Amino acid sequence: MRVLIISDIHGNLTALETVLADAGDYDSVWCLGDLVGYGPDPNECVARVRELPNLTCLMGNHDKAAIGEIDVNAFNTDARLAVSWTQRALSDASRRYLKNLPERIVYGDYTLVHASPSKPIWEYILDRNIAARNFNHFDTLYCLVGHTHIPVMYVYGEYNTLELRPAYDDLLQFSNERLIVNPGSVGQPRDSNPDAAYALLDLETNQWEYRRVPYDIAETQRRMETTSLPARLRARLGRGW
Ligand code: ZN
Repeated sequence: MRVLIISDIHGNLTALETVLADAGDYDSVWCLGDLVGYGPDPNECVARVRELPNLTCLMGNHDKAAIGEIDVNAFNTDARLAVSWTQRALSDASRRYLKNLPERIVYGDYTLVHASPSKPIWEYILDRNIAARNFNHFDTLYCLVGHTHIPVMYVYGEYNTLELRPAYDDLLQFSNERLIVNPGSVGQPRDSNPDAAYALLDLETNQWEYRRVPYDIAETQRRMETTSLPARLRARLGRGW
């Protein structure tokens, strides 16, 4: 079974459609949260994700904030303005859908969360120390996370070593080593590469493929200009930060 792994779409429909067209055939979709926030198309992204085949979708911090379940003051200025704008833009149907998203799902060898297995909504796994601690918070071999918008893999080695593997290789074979893996962000990449990031996973062979695809960033930026979303949020898409 081929699984499309997407995360952190953040209301960027152009990036999402480009990823879906680029991905080829897949049997199911795992979405690691943050459908909305930052981008101009929150309702369109919710509607598009909902119709994907055999979907498992997690709750992200921006999804939770958009439905009023996280205090906006917990966010930095740009994110806070984006959350407030998204709250106003969100339709009742989108709000109802986001409200019911789970924070944690276990699927065979895989635990899925948005942020970290220790704190599924909020914690950023940004370095090896944070990653090392989080290996105590899931029981499966592998854990998939989003939230940092940076594609990366943390490998827990045989002698309690913890290795950080940036997403250099396109195609990786998972083994018996425990992993925390981040596919990167569809709608707002932050690793200095503005191309949309996603991954494909073969559940029979446990082969993981990191993918990047350029999308029409200017098109998304044009739609953002018609909103009151902060200009910095438009600019960052162009450089991937
Ligand atoms: Zn995010």
